[in-house]
Amino acid sequence: MSKYGKEILIGALPVLLVFLIYLQIKVLPFLLVGSFLFFAVYLAKARGGGISVVADRKNKGKSVPNLTFDDIGGQERAKKELMEALDFLVHFERIRQMGIRPLKGILLTGPPGTGKTLMAKAAASYTDSVFISASGSEFVEMYVGVGASRVRDLFKEARQRAQKENKDSAILFIDEIEVIGAKRDGGQHKEYDQTLNQLLTEMDGIHTSTHPRILMIAATNRKEMLDSALLRPGRFDRHIEVDLPDRKGRLQILHLHSVNKTLADDVLLEKVAEESFGFSGAQLESVMNEAAIYAMRDNLERIEQRHLSLAIDKVMMGEKTDREATEEEKRRVALHELGHAIVAEEVRPGAVSQVSMSPRGQALGYVRHNPQKDHYLYTKPFLEQQIMIALGGAAAEEIFYGNRSTGSRNDFEQALRLVRTMIDSGLTGLGIVQSENVKKEDLMKENKKILDELMFDTRQLLERNREVFEQALAILLKEETLSGEEFRRLLAGIQKCSTA
Ligand code: ATP
Repeated sequence: MSKYGKEILIGALPVLLVFLIYLQIKVLPFLLVGSFLFFAVYLAKARGGGISVVADRKNKGKSVPNLTFDDIGGQERAKKELMEALDFLVHFERIRQMGIRPLKGILLTGPPGTGKTLMAKAAASYTDSVFISASGSEFVEMYVGVGASRVRDLFKEARQRAQKENKDSAILFIDEIEVIGAKRDGGQHKEYDQTLNQLLTEMDGIHTSTHPRILMIAATNRKEMLDSALLRPGRFDRHIEVDLPDRKGRLQILHLHSVNKTLADDVLLEKVAEESFGFSGAQLESVMNEAAIYAMRDNLERIEQRHLSLAIDKVMMGEKTDREATEEEKRRVALHELGHAIVAEEVRPGAVSQVSMSPRGQALGYVRHNPQKDHYLYTKPFLEQQIMIALGGAAAEEIFYGNRSTGSRNDFEQALRLVRTMIDSGLTGLGIVQSENVKKEDLMKENKKILDELMFDTRQLLERNREVFEQALAILLKEETLSGEEFRRLLAGIQKCSTA
């Protein structure tokens, strides 16, 4: 009944009005008072929106999260740095005796899904603090002053809740801080400026003597956007990078997310960790979840290795789609993918794990590469080879059709990103430069020169492998997939014949 209360009221009011008019009762004064009350309530709601956000949050169960640093996989350096910073809260008396100013804000930076929110929660449980969280976008309203009043409410709530729960401290976590903390260059809405000013004022109001103590933790993946006033000493002056996990970290995260799942005895999470290079914690969690869904679809109790492989593909490329390409499109896609695969195998033998023609996400086909060791440094030849692999698809289409298609769009984006990395790292003919200071024409010229040369090399390499294309194409069109081993056997066989 309460669910439909509003609708019933809206329906009943006009009926009541008509009835009163029928009884010849003057309804105009009621209407005027009613409309006045309605607008007053509406405005109060809009302006004091923060209060309702706070009220919602109050009902959100326990204030000190029971998530600890042990529940966060990898991120050893970030965890250590954060714990060291938190010791300011834990050993507060000593800090005060030494005359050290309190730590007011910690900024967690890094790509999405790497566990920044988890870190903030673990920080609250480590310091036995009340945890209150909000997202930057919650503060943004059209009305000037609403955001600022929400910031005030949030700090007030943090203090009140800590007092009520007898805690010495509260951790206030703001995700997406860049929404309210972006550089003030005069261009944005006045509302944003006021919200940020209020945040700065509240932070300045945190003193050693205040009880309960408040520590702000903010998270962003756009640190460069933040206003310098936010980052200056005494505000968010501790910056902790929460980066994508390395192989060891990925394994730990996979283990953490497999605790509530049953794995077949021969499952090797190490292999999954190896194959999921570049995945964030959130993506790894998704891999475990999707694998469990695949196992359930197969009516199995336990997750097998193949479910995990499928789940990696799904998280990387999207779900399999049933888009049915025409025969001609299929042939072009097959040649395109073979172009990538041949270059990959030639420049890095053993690189190809599978060539597939099953459409996934936006792609009509894909080449799955064998896991590589985590790299943190890339040489010029490595980057050039990577660009050639990306250009392999378009080069193959040129060889067999004399033209290219829209299927190379992502490949070109990838190639351009790599060229940009080369330029920024001083690995090109431009020498050591800051790309922002190089004339656009010069950048374009260098881009073109690198890509043209590498495209030429790629085409030559593929021309030498026409026979591989022809044989592999027939298998691929029939079977839809070609495993790395089959592909290598075919390649070796043909190359042996041609040298004999
Ligand atoms: P965003 O920047 O998008 O807000 P975030 O960095 O705050 O992301 P979280 O919200 O902390 O990321 O993580 C999302 C989910 O991903 C978590 O709930 C958890 O399941 C998983 N996850 C991410 N990182 C880790 C990790 N290091 N260990 C375990 N699980 C993780």
